[in-house]
Amino acid sequence: MPTFPEAAEASTRDARLRRNLRHATHTIRDKRAGAVAELPDWAALREAGAHIKDRTLRHLDHYLEQLERSVTEAGGIVHWAADAQEANDIVTRLVRETGEREVVKVKSMATQEIGLNEALERAGIAAYETDLAELIVQLGDDRPSHILVPAIHRNRGEIQEIFQDRMGRWGRAAPEGLSDDPAELAEAARLHLREKFLRAKVGISGANFMVAESGSLVVVESEGNGRMCLTLPETLISVVGIEKVVPTWRDLEVFLQLLPRSSTAERMNPYTSTWTGTTDGDGPSAFHLVLLDNGRTDTLADQVGRQTLRCIRCSACLNVCPVYERAGGHAYGSPYPGPIGAILTPQLDSLETGLDASLPYASSLCGACYEVCPVAIDIPEVLVHLRERVVQGGTATVRGQRTTVQPAKGHAAERAAMRAATWAFDHPGALRAGERLASRARRLVPRRLPGPGSAWTDTRDVPRVPPESFRDWWRRTRGGATGTGPDQRERGTGRGARSGGTGPGEQSGRTGADGRHSGGGPDGGGRRPGGRAGGSRTEGGGDEQPEQP
Ligand code: SF4
Repeated sequence: MPTFPEAAEASTRDARLRRNLRHATHTIRDKRAGAVAELPDWAALREAGAHIKDRTLRHLDHYLEQLERSVTEAGGIVHWAADAQEANDIVTRLVRETGEREVVKVKSMATQEIGLNEALERAGIAAYETDLAELIVQLGDDRPSHILVPAIHRNRGEIQEIFQDRMGRWGRAAPEGLSDDPAELAEAARLHLREKFLRAKVGISGANFMVAESGSLVVVESEGNGRMCLTLPETLISVVGIEKVVPTWRDLEVFLQLLPRSSTAERMNPYTSTWTGTTDGDGPSAFHLVLLDNGRTDTLADQVGRQTLRCIRCSACLNVCPVYERAGGHAYGSPYPGPIGAILTPQLDSLETGLDASLPYASSLCGACYEVCPVAIDIPEVLVHLRERVVQGGTATVRGQRTTVQPAKGHAAERAAMRAATWAFDHPGALRAGERLASRARRLVPRRLPGPGSAWTDTRDVPRVPPESFRDWWRRTRGGATGTGPDQRERGTGRGARSGGTGPGEQSGRTGADGRHSGGGPDGGGRRPGGRAGGSRTEGGGDEQPEQP
């Protein structure tokens, strides 16, 4: 798999792809902003969503066992899969036991993550995608490029060509003279899929949520095909990531408000399907739930990275990301594109591949993803945290074991630069002397850097060095008068003095119990829900009261 920069180099040169992406993401993001603005309590809902997820993740073992009991009591069978291989083996065995050679599928990111279609194909079982966009992707022998709109990179002319050329190979062919009119394309897909729905004996789904108290699974969708897959087959197999559990229906209510407005900009989803075990004479007579770990408990062990598991796959972060808009979803090399993919894929994979090591850099760190995330995942914080692990290595949990992770290859210059910066900031006198020297020699600073630095300046100019450093400007204009200037801070650091200004003593006094400075978050409240999840208060027993699951 190519690294993100390698894959993005090709996709950013594709003008048609960029045009399609720009049009689609801007349309969705504008609609989302309108739908969110309708709710005066959106900020409170968002915070509630983050808190429910965090609390559930803290007691994940408890809620998963409760879910298993509830599903079993309702007539379902629960299977536990530690990784992709185990999940694929379980599903393949279950399908084989039915004697069937084909299955219909509801759009499911978890099954894409584990490569289930390919595993079934190797076992001689055909898997038919039934979501319209997934059907386009499957017929086009393509890969999804967006969480919500997997064929976002295709325009309707391309879809018409795919339907005309490929539909007949998979079942009912497209009608003669099919045009690129959206209604005609939808009708062609409907006729093609109906045949499969009526024939299939086995359905495979994911789920958006699982309710622990009743053992119910929930799928939200816009087309109704999901409901056909969930109700018509005799056997239903659902493959779901363990982080999708919520404790109660009351908790679910929060997410059923957050998700549709963030994803499709709708007040509620057109189709919300829920099912609980099996019921005689109504729907599938056999129900299997495969609970998938595949790197999630490793992610949960990381105090900063665990907030990633709050994600409800709304795709709002993709639609505002300037990097995604230009590079497209395929460059992320996994079913999870965009900002969420840049933090989720490397953690699920334990940063083991070159692609994983490149993904945390697929961001400008502008923070737009955090602003729109309905469960307040501080994506920039996790990106920086993962970059640190890529460059420096450190301790992490890999397949359940605490392991020392080595730094990724190719970051020696970055490490040296960070060491030099650390030394300079630890020696303010040397820093000031260096700044003055740079100001005096500023005409000699090149606009382009030589050697490895040229990779940076190929697309950027080196910033101009000002004739006077900030410290000197401060001293000349305000320094010494207020007692709050940088020189006072230096004295506070270097000589142990505590001035009456805003020196380090005061700064550390404002730092929260989670070890992070508490002021001035983008939400204006100064305290991000995302920060609380990653902080030591939830782990180390800091100032948090004991809680019951
Ligand atoms: S990270 Fe947030 S905005 Fe992005 S898909 Fe997940 S829930 Fe949505």
